[in-house]
Amino acid sequence: MDQSPLLICRARFLLPLAEPDRTRRIRDGYVLSRGDAILEVGPYNDDVGRRLHEASGSELRILHTRREVPSSDAIPLQDVILLPAFVKAHGHDHEQPIIGIAKEEPLTAWLDHAVNPYTGFINAKRAELTERLGCTPQLVTYLMARVCDIHYGITTSMVHHCNYNKYHCEDIARANEAAGTTMIVAIGGQDRFYTPELLDKPEDALRRLDAALAIQTSSRRTRFVPGPDQDFSNSRAVLVPQKAWARAHGTLFHIHSSEEPKTTRWFTEAIEPGLTPVEYFDQIGILDAATVLAHQVNCGPRDIEILARTGAAVVHNPLANTILGSGMPPVVEMLTAGIPVAISTDGSGSADNQDIIAAARLAAQYQKARHQDATLLPSQQLLEMITVAPNRILRMNQGELTPGRQADWILIDLARPNLVPTRLDNLVENLIWAADGSEVDTVVARGRLLKHDGVVLPFLDGTTPASVMLRVQSLSEWFVEYREAAPALSGTGANR
Ligand SMILES: [Zn+2]
Repeated sequence: MDQSPLLICRARFLLPLAEPDRTRRIRDGYVLSRGDAILEVGPYNDDVGRRLHEASGSELRILHTRREVPSSDAIPLQDVILLPAFVKAHGHDHEQPIIGIAKEEPLTAWLDHAVNPYTGFINAKRAELTERLGCTPQLVTYLMARVCDIHYGITTSMVHHCNYNKYHCEDIARANEAAGTTMIVAIGGQDRFYTPELLDKPEDALRRLDAALAIQTSSRRTRFVPGPDQDFSNSRAVLVPQKAWARAHGTLFHIHSSEEPKTTRWFTEAIEPGLTPVEYFDQIGILDAATVLAHQVNCGPRDIEILARTGAAVVHNPLANTILGSGMPPVVEMLTAGIPVAISTDGSGSADNQDIIAAARLAAQYQKARHQDATLLPSQQLLEMITVAPNRILRMNQGELTPGRQADWILIDLARPNLVPTRLDNLVENLIWAADGSEVDTVVARGRLLKHDGVVLPFLDGTTPASVMLRVQSLSEWFVEYREAAPALSGTGANR
């Protein structure tokens, strides 16, 4: 008999987001899991409470929170919304320490002034910083991103491990395993139009992927896939063999595509003359249902046709796209064409947070205004675009609450002025339109508590969030000193 612990939580409102009716809203519901898998989901009543108590006895753990409603019930009610944890289909864990840097700049200037200097700094000074921090600066950086994801209720992510981070796959796996989250690491790479010291040969990229498989063998929660950085920074010489590697290993393939107008225009005029990035990807045969494109802002009708035909998916990152002044993709047209679209946050350097509910809200606001049509992207669809849809795109087993799925779920605190009143009929709407992102009170991943009563808990290896935040604060101050003396970078993409 399976001896892993049983965990039950009973909530005032439950949103399973599951088939056959993903819109189902349950008043007084429960989720029961054993170990890392969900066993039961449904409406709660006294019979359920009695049955579980009798059958499970002392092995049943009941989740108590600060929002417990006083009663003599066998399983006490929590004044919360219980729903699947969020799934982030595109982000960058190396960006958390550079929030608020190089704002008011477009994509490629921002890469030159924020992302590449910071990741270059922790790469060049790794030995020295390791001595000062007590662990590598990469590990501290990635741990900080794990703290933030958990804070916002994200338990599953695809992390695009770009630029210098491609050299540090062990550190990202270590951070993720410690945090208890689930991660696909898309290992970045480039062979043109980037800082020269980063440029790969095809064999470098493949060797890195093979080496990551060895890390994966000893990782329970982390997988690796090819993730060349950008459309413009990768020639067919590196893209084609990496897509072949992905096909041979049955993995996803991830890349930034058509992120902003200046770079996309430059791509079509000078890099691959006459071709949009999507036409280029199609021509070299790397688009299929396992290819996931981040952004796809500049996306014409012909690109939409190609994406729909090949089955490639798009991850829309409205916070980054608006803050960097990149523009917004034709999400409504993509969805109408049947293209799988998830909403995500991108990295914290451009977004400058991981509030995935805010990302969903912004996506809808923009599309409603652009089309002058308030009926577009209703709340239910938005909630599915940060749970069910990215789960499907990432080929995971989360994003909805059904028996057999991974036990990843969150509780939303209802004792917040901005969420009063919440009823069954405005539940999903309040989550999207009235939440401020800080209401994620409790986070469970694989049946294990990662955040409880508003506090991110120590990681599996004993690392405390407070110690991570303290070290990131120091690291960011050392980065400022370094940046003052370091030579200015330029030359990324169209920033020439
Ligand atoms: Zn990105």
